[in-house]
Amino acid sequence: MVKTVDAGVLDALIVGAGMSGLLAAIKLRAAGFERLLIVEKSDGVGGTWRDNVYPGSGCDVPSHLYSYSFEPRPDWTYVFSRQKEILDYFEHCATKYDLRRHLLLNTRVTGARFDEASGLWTVTTGGRRKHVARNLIVGLGQLNVPAFPDIPGRDSFAGIAFHSARWRHDVELAGKNIACIGAGASAVQYIPEIAPQAKWLTVFQRTPNWILPRKDRAYSDLEKRWFARYPWFRKVHRFHIWAILESRFPAFRTGSWRSWTMKRMAQRHLEAQVADPELRRKLTPDYAIGCKRILVSDDYYPALQRGNVDLVTDLVARIEPDGVVTRGGRRVKADVIIWGTGFDTTRFAAPLAIAGRGGRTLAQAWSGGVEAMYGVTTTGFPNMFMLYGPNTNLGHNSIVYMMEAQVAYMMKLIEAQRDRKLRWLDVTPEAQERFNRWLQQDMAGNVFASGCDSWYMSASGKVTANWSGSSWGYVKRTRAAGLDDYTLEKAD
Ligand code: NAP
Repeated sequence: MVKTVDAGVLDALIVGAGMSGLLAAIKLRAAGFERLLIVEKSDGVGGTWRDNVYPGSGCDVPSHLYSYSFEPRPDWTYVFSRQKEILDYFEHCATKYDLRRHLLLNTRVTGARFDEASGLWTVTTGGRRKHVARNLIVGLGQLNVPAFPDIPGRDSFAGIAFHSARWRHDVELAGKNIACIGAGASAVQYIPEIAPQAKWLTVFQRTPNWILPRKDRAYSDLEKRWFARYPWFRKVHRFHIWAILESRFPAFRTGSWRSWTMKRMAQRHLEAQVADPELRRKLTPDYAIGCKRILVSDDYYPALQRGNVDLVTDLVARIEPDGVVTRGGRRVKADVIIWGTGFDTTRFAAPLAIAGRGGRTLAQAWSGGVEAMYGVTTTGFPNMFMLYGPNTNLGHNSIVYMMEAQVAYMMKLIEAQRDRKLRWLDVTPEAQERFNRWLQQDMAGNVFASGCDSWYMSASGKVTANWSGSSWGYVKRTRAAGLDDYTLEKAD
């Protein structure tokens, strides 16, 4: 006889105390699941907002929407918050919702194994300790493993080198020759901040990005007072931000007129800020807007035109002890190299050594490609839920909004598991296959699949990071989805 709930068995073990792990814990506790353990590799909560502390770090989604709908903050300083204020928000949530007693910090999950007979996960932390949980919730996010390109000589560099997500604040940048490799969303935020201190700063750009104006501003005291006093005012503001962003979604369908108008907006921004035709040419992308992530900045183009900044578009050939050598043979001396080269975005939870039904690992299950059901469940891994998993990223709206929909979907399943006394539930291969066939067909009309090279895609060219539709489309579908897609295994 298998018991559905054992003493000492956790209701859920959550991997990661970032914004999705915290959200899952809040919703689980609200539904009466108290036996929770949140395992976090770093020394605090906040995930990406704890890791990405580079100068100028901030979010390009307005904070009234980039925050939980049920936990508004009326006194955001700016429309687009800086890293510190966002981290403070998640710290506040951890305290307010009494999650700190569930945290196991400075600890890595090193493996997890599912047992069909009991319907329980045994999760190993730090390579030694074992924890048993009914549900395994993976809140790793898509952007947590820094990626370094395979450039010859990378380790031979005699100066100091670090990744943007592991910023070395102890390294004095003033008066140094700095080589910034990568010109993505992170780089456009720190380059304007560090350029004034550098003796000489060289930006190595492999591909230009479409950049839209940021137009940030501080909220006035009156606005903040109104947000605090009148919840309807704050809600209207949040809805307004969501609606504006959502209205951009048609621009992500290939060949749409909205795509054309958004491209014009980006071109006008470039023309307004960069007068030199040669520099403009170097900064003009040759792919559809939205295919790679659209960047938002008012100070990146001006920073590139400073007297001590150079933009190099010749590809990096190798690193030598004293700097960077390009394929064209140009040598750029550097004291510091900053790798703004993004993240390993294609493996999702696979590096965690998770073994599901029959001992099959996630890496084996996904050897032909990463697939999931609404990014949350994947067949063969019962009682396992991923947040910000495969095909849940967006190009146009707030990830926090998407995460709330994922957690609502997950809660529907976990509550059904409890109420129907299920030992486990597992998405059927047929349902997952049907869903992914539809998703990839829908993706075909989307700019993400229009031919550029981006972190949205796996090596085979399949878009595995992004959702193909609107954020409202995702919410509607996950609300309608139910247990029909699942094999339900009852407890004896
Ligand atoms: P990223 O957007 O993936 O950019 C990586 C950069 O490194 C790209 O310019 C890439 O060039 C370049 N690169 C990679 N390998 C290279 C090589 N061998 N030689 C030269 N350049 C190379 O990474 P990120 O800037 O860290 O941003 C990652 C994601 O984090 C963003 O897309 C966004 O979703 C999120 N983010 C958000 C914000 C925000 O809200 N404001 C801020 C930062 C990050 P190619 O384009 O040619 O590949």
